[in-house]
Amino acid sequence: MRRVVVIGAGQAGLSCAAKLRAEGFDGEITLIGDEPLAPYQRPPLSKAYLLGDMPLERLFLRPEAFYAEQEIALRLGAPVTGIDPGAKQVALAGETLDYDDLVLATGARARPLPEDQGGALGGVFTIRDLADIDRLAPEMRQGRRLLVIGGGYIGLEAAAVARKLGLEVVLVEAAPRILGRVACVETADYFRALHQGHGVEIREGVGLASLLGDDQVTGAELSDGTRLDCDLAIVGIGITPETELAAAAGVALDQGIAVNAMGQTSVPGIWAAGDCASLPFEDTRVRLESVQNAIDQAEAVARNILGAEAAYLPRPWFWSDQYDVKLQIAGLAREYDGVVVRDGGKAVSHWYFRGSRLIAVDAMSDPRGYMIGKRLVEAGAAPDQAVIADPAGDLKGLLRA
Ligand code: FAD
Repeated sequence: MRRVVVIGAGQAGLSCAAKLRAEGFDGEITLIGDEPLAPYQRPPLSKAYLLGDMPLERLFLRPEAFYAEQEIALRLGAPVTGIDPGAKQVALAGETLDYDDLVLATGARARPLPEDQGGALGGVFTIRDLADIDRLAPEMRQGRRLLVIGGGYIGLEAAAVARKLGLEVVLVEAAPRILGRVACVETADYFRALHQGHGVEIREGVGLASLLGDDQVTGAELSDGTRLDCDLAIVGIGITPETELAAAAGVALDQGIAVNAMGQTSVPGIWAAGDCASLPFEDTRVRLESVQNAIDQAEAVARNILGAEAAYLPRPWFWSDQYDVKLQIAGLAREYDGVVVRDGGKAVSHWYFRGSRLIAVDAMSDPRGYMIGKRLVEAGAAPDQAVIADPAGDLKGLLRA
């Protein structure tokens, strides 16, 4: 009986296990997670779930019965402490499990604020898992003053939720502008204006020197010497892939657990997928921190474990909800040299070009722009920029061009 062990019961781990069964694998599957809960979705943690608009049951990716039906042995609250690639075994508290194929789907953790900047004070939160929200949600009360550190998507989403709940919000971003790592100036301008319109104070180009307070955070000193008061702080300064297990087992790392297009690591029989894995993309390596990548890459690994030998070609897409705006992103905005703005009033989209080739689209409350943009990006198209820039231009016609 062939045995597949999957470490990490998150989006990628579940997707791999489920796909193995869907493809007819009849061996043993063990899905091991260190969190006490069955696999759940993370995106609502900084959106509807944090707002209190979504019950816990809706977070779960599959009903409880699924695991028994599919004969997937789910081991929860069970951190894997080591991998022995020679013996093909993984170690958990007090036992070892044998594997024929091992999938690393260990995800990532939120980068904490260093302790010498006040990271260990009470009232300081990161947002990565349900336990974080269980601690944070009761603190998000009307009239309290929240400091958000970091102007990426998690920080901005948390700021939007906080305003809806009636907190006062200041967001600081050390880089010259919000969304500097992931989006163009135009998209940053759009979201800055959106947040300011909802009463968030955004300070860019100014970092945090240190949080202030004895046990509990009471304020912050910024890098320009400004001091401000706050009752709680959310730290959204990026994530670090969970690579320690892999590294200790001799698996090669390169900005994450390095995999080839098939999802194989440098060690035979060990695969990786999801937030922990860095994969070849164009002329570089990337980690794609998104649900769609976690699903697609993990499913590709499942097929390849079964011998498909199929390369995974990522088709990145991502979304974010802030206030009543839904942002949808297709493609990866890297190494672009021009951005075309399509401003249709409520529906706005930003189209990223490398030369004449469309490589990504940010669509704000513009599902049509997103849908057409995604197809053009995936086709490697060079659409007419004048048609895109004209809000009355025939976008759909670009698909036929
Ligand atoms: P994870 O979901 O992190 O799962 C990994 C699991 O492995 C975790 O449960 C971890 O505890 C466990 N683990 C790690 N080490 C061990 C070990 N040694 N033993 C056992 N278990 C272990 N993506 C989008 O596309 N759109 C969004 O809007 C969006 N919003 C997000 C909002 C938030 C607040 C967060 C946190 C993420 C968001 N993402 C979003 C990203 C998306 O959720 C991730 O890309 C996705 O969850 C990655 O799945 P994964 O399985 O690789 O990792």
